[in-house]
Amino acid sequence: MTDSGLQDVPAVSRPHVEPGKLFIDGQWCEAHAKGRRDVIDPSTGKVVTTVAEADAADVDAAVTAGRRAFGPWARMSGRERARVLHRVADIVRRREDELVAVESLDVGKPVSLCRAVDVATTAEIYEYYSGLAQTLQGATRQIPIPSHAYTSREPLGVVGAITPFNFPLILSSAKIAPALAAGNAVVHKPAEDTPLSALLMAEILAEAGVPGGVLNVVTGGAQAGEALLRHPGIDKIAFTGSTEIGRHAAATAGEALKPVTMELGGNAAQIVFEDADLDKAIGSVIKGFVFNTGQFCMGGPRLLVHRSLYDTVLEILAGAVAGVPVGDPFDPATVVGPMAAERHLTKVERYVRLARDQGGRVVTGGERLELGGGYYYRPTIIAGLDDDSRVVQDEIFGPVLTVQPFDTEDEAVELANGTPYGLAAGLQTTDLARAHRVAARLEAGIVWVNDWAMLDPAIPFGGVKQSGYGREYGPEALESYTKVKSVVIAL
Ligand code: NAP
Repeated sequence: MTDSGLQDVPAVSRPHVEPGKLFIDGQWCEAHAKGRRDVIDPSTGKVVTTVAEADAADVDAAVTAGRRAFGPWARMSGRERARVLHRVADIVRRREDELVAVESLDVGKPVSLCRAVDVATTAEIYEYYSGLAQTLQGATRQIPIPSHAYTSREPLGVVGAITPFNFPLILSSAKIAPALAAGNAVVHKPAEDTPLSALLMAEILAEAGVPGGVLNVVTGGAQAGEALLRHPGIDKIAFTGSTEIGRHAAATAGEALKPVTMELGGNAAQIVFEDADLDKAIGSVIKGFVFNTGQFCMGGPRLLVHRSLYDTVLEILAGAVAGVPVGDPFDPATVVGPMAAERHLTKVERYVRLARDQGGRVVTGGERLELGGGYYYRPTIIAGLDDDSRVVQDEIFGPVLTVQPFDTEDEAVELANGTPYGLAAGLQTTDLARAHRVAARLEAGIVWVNDWAMLDPAIPFGGVKQSGYGREYGPEALESYTKVKSVVIAL
C-alpha cells in the first residue's frame, strides 16, 4: 500500500479505499489545515473513505511546485514527453481493474460502462496525445523584407484544470494529456463528489515517469477551485462544469486576462425524422438519455419526433425503457446505476414534479428506485410539455427524456436550437442530403447522425452559446495549451 492508498483494489468487486492525500511536487501530503472531506458511495449512501480538503495555502504549494517543474518539462523534447505519456496509456491498461473499481465506487457508474468507456478512453487519450506531442511545430513565412521569419509554439506554463463529477477520468485526462504533451505543468482540482480516480491517476503518471511537480492534484471543494482561479501563478484555466460556475470562472480568469477553455452545460435534442430507420433510432434515443444515468453533458434529453411517428415511437420507447436494467453498479448486467450524489437525485425529483404540475404525462418511470439506500431513479419519459416548460429548457442532468412532435424540418431545427445551450445535437434520417442540410443548421459543437455519443480523442468537442467555448480533444486541444511566437531575423 502506498500513501495514496488507492492501488490495492481487487478486480471489480467493491474496493476498500484508504483515505486520500494531496499530491504536490511528486509527494503525498496532508492538507496544511488537516481538513478532510467524506467520499460517499452513491449506491449505498454510505461514506467509503475521506480525502484531504485543500485550501488556498495547499493550492499555492501546488502552483509553486508546478512553476518549478514547468521549465525542465517544457525543455524536454516532444518525443521524450511522448514516451512518458505513452507509458501512462500502458499503465492505465495494465491497472484497468483498479481504475474500473475506484471509478464505479465513486461515481456509481456500472462497471461494464466504466471498463468499456471511461477507462478505455482514458488510455486512448494518453496514447493519442503521446502521438501529437511529437507533431507540435511552427512554420516559416515568406515576407517582402529580406528576413528569415518563422513561428514556434510554446507551452503556456502552469494550467489549472477543474473538472466536474460525471466523467472524472475522461475529463481530467482530456485536459492533463494535451497540456503535458505541449510541455505545461498542471494543477488539477477534481469535483468534490468524485475525487478518487484523480489520485489513482497521479500515482499512475508518477509511475510512468512524469517528474514531480508536473502534475499536482488538490482535492477539495469550491474553496480550492476559487484559489486556483485567482492564483497569479496559473497561466490558463481549463474548466469543465456547469454554465453557472463556468460563467464565474471565466469572469474571474478574465480579470487577470488568463486564457480559458469553458466546457459547460448542455441540453441536446435528438431529432427523429419520418424517414429514420426506426430500430436504430430507438436504440440511439435510449442511449442518448440513459447513458451514465443521464449525467452526460452531451446527452440527448429532448426527443423531437415527426408527428407521423409520435405515437408509435412513444409506445416502443415506453416498453423498451421500462426494461433497461437499473441497479448495483458492481453487477455486470447493470446498465443504469445510481445518480452520483443525493442532490442530483433530488434535482431530478423536483423537475419530474414540475412536469406533472405543468400537465406533462409520465409515460414510464417518474419515481425513485428504492435499493440499498442508493440514489437510484428510474429512467423516465415525459410527453405533453410545452416547449417553453423549464423541464424542456433546463439541463436536468438525470435519466429523463421529454418528447415533442414536429411537422416540418424547419420546425425541428427551430425546436432543436431553441434552448440557451449548444453542446451536442443529433438526427436520425436515411436521407443523406437532409443529414448534411440539418447538421449545418444545428447550433451545436458536435452533431451525430444515426447514432449517439460517437466520441474519440481525435474528434474535437465543445460548445457554442451557453455551452462554452474552446475545444477538447483533437489537435485543437493541444494547440489551446500553447502560444504562438513569431521570430523575424533581418538578413
Ligand atoms: P459544477 O458544479 O459547475 O462543478 C464543476 C467544477 O467546478 C467542480 O470541480 C467544482 O468543485 C468546481 N467549482 C465549484 N465552484 C467553484 C468556484 N467558485 N471556483 C472554482 N471552481 C469551482 O459542475 P458539476 O455539477 O460537477 O458537473 C455537471 C455540469 O458539468 C453539467 O452542467 C454538465 O453539463 C457539465 N459538463 C460539461 C461537459 C462538457 O464537456 N461541456 C462535460 C461534463 C460535464 P466542487 O465539485 O468541489 O463543487
